[in-house]
Amino acid sequence: MANRPKLVVFDMDGTLINGRLIEVISRKYNLSEKVIEIQSDPSLPGYKKTEMIASLLKGIKASEIIKAIGSIPIMLNADKIVTWFKKNGYVTGIITDSYTIAAEVIANKLKIDFIAANELKIEDGVLTGEIKMPLGWEKINCSCTISICKRYQLNYYSKKYGVSIEDTIAIGDTRGDICMIKQAGLGIAFMPKDQDIVKQSKNIIRTPDLNEIMNYM
Ligand SMILES: [Zn+2]
Repeated sequence: MANRPKLVVFDMDGTLINGRLIEVISRKYNLSEKVIEIQSDPSLPGYKKTEMIASLLKGIKASEIIKAIGSIPIMLNADKIVTWFKKNGYVTGIITDSYTIAAEVIANKLKIDFIAANELKIEDGVLTGEIKMPLGWEKINCSCTISICKRYQLNYYSKKYGVSIEDTIAIGDTRGDICMIKQAGLGIAFMPKDQDIVKQSKNIIRTPDLNEIMNYM
């Protein structure tokens, strides 16, 4: 059955890269306090937080986002594990609640096949503060309510590439990754950042080294 198509999807911040883009940007533009305030407001659904944070970025040059993502180190052995997956017949993807212009940089660096992310609106090279979010949870009744339902995206891409769900792998580090981790044939919490993902994951990697995935293969 070696020829059966397979799929592996990675979260970006804290998983493929050792840092978080929004933290780097908000530090640079003195937005940290506002961003943290939005992120820690329990009354806001996830997608609303994404919308509000994007509006704070209004006026920043798109090239600054690309510079910021380039300054964050790639996670240890990310290139090695992606190369291994590709050699072994996996389609590779990034599913992130970050931004397409940033995820493209990482996908190009690591030669990853596709990305799914939020799209910042750009006019004359400058962020307008608006954002286009894929959502998806409203279509499948997922409780995540974030800007991009990763379970919805996992289903979408597995169908697109003709991969059955048991032949999928999903790897992520935060609450927003839970719905895809639980849906995938193999779901792995990598360096988990909150208790929810720890409680809901059977497989947990606690070393900042993506080569640890090999222990599950
Ligand atoms: Zn979801």
